[in-house]
Amino acid sequence: MHELALVQGLLESVLEQAKKHQIKKIERVKIVVGDMTSAMPESLQFAFEVLRRDTPAGEAVLEIERRPVKLTCQECHFVFRPEGLKYSCPQCVSGRTSIVEGRELFVEYFEGE
Ligand SMILES: [Zn+2]
Repeated sequence: MHELALVQGLLESVLEQAKKHQIKKIERVKIVVGDMTSAMPESLQFAFEVLRRDTPAGEAVLEIERRPVKLTCQECHFVFRPEGLKYSCPQCVSGRTSIVEGRELFVEYFEGE
């Protein structure tokens, strides 16, 4: 389950930040997860519940915001959301597209005192 490793990395950075700001109890952690990461929200939630034990985030709520995949066409600069696995431009049918959103994986903010 790769979510465990993902959450571990995120949680470590939160704990480090919390320590720096002398936050002793973390109440809420909000993360942004792009669909391209193929991380399942339930698995992220589960991993968080396992990893937060015995940390200042022991009772923290994890909030997950998913970002759908968004592409841009390099030919006509059209921005679109792909349907399924069709990553070609719906406007000019070009296959030269690049991902602008959907690969995110970061902590947007966390709260505590
Ligand atoms: Zn196009």
